[in-house]
Amino acid sequence: MPVDPLHSAARPPRSAPSPHSRGPENHAVEVRRSARRRRTVSAYREGDRTVVLIPARMSDAEEQRWVTVMLDKLAAQESRRMLGDAELAERAGRLSEQYLDGRARPDSVRWVTNQNTRWGSCTPAEGSIRLSHRLQGMPEYVVDYVLLHELAHLLVPGHGPAFWRLLEAYPRTERARGYLEGVVAAERLPHLPAARSE
Ligand SMILES: [Zn+2]
Repeated sequence: MPVDPLHSAARPPRSAPSPHSRGPENHAVEVRRSARRRRTVSAYREGDRTVVLIPARMSDAEEQRWVTVMLDKLAAQESRRMLGDAELAERAGRLSEQYLDGRARPDSVRWVTNQNTRWGSCTPAEGSIRLSHRLQGMPEYVVDYVLLHELAHLLVPGHGPAFWRLLEAYPRTERARGYLEGVVAAERLPHLPAARSE
């Protein structure tokens, strides 16, 4: 049986906060000062933390101001990438048309925050599909793959050859699975903060 990253019992991230405290605005912020940095400020997410890189000479007041600016900027970027439930349903419809001859017709497709060990799940009897909020911000082809995977499960329950045949037409199946495997692997690696600072 092929290894299936969607349904394998991946360990949850080491420092997973409770689903209710999750959200970009609740990320812990770590400010790193760099003597080599002159003017530029940058920020990125690293697991559940947000790292903000600033020049070493910056004053505390400037630091405060820049952290706020960079957090807003990251949040804006991320919200642009997040689909709402309505768009998710629309996307599922398109994927079903394109790859499954429209045979998979879910009654509901939605994001859930209580799913940390699986990327997606479905209940064929109810025609419902749930995607983990952890996919938000991942590339579209990955979200599409997980959606298509769950759509295919509405037609074929297990992970036998008949199931994988349904996914063959989607050109990025292997790439998406590799991406998700990489995410799971990265969560198991030790944090090495020094490796990312300048
Ligand atoms: Zn599956």
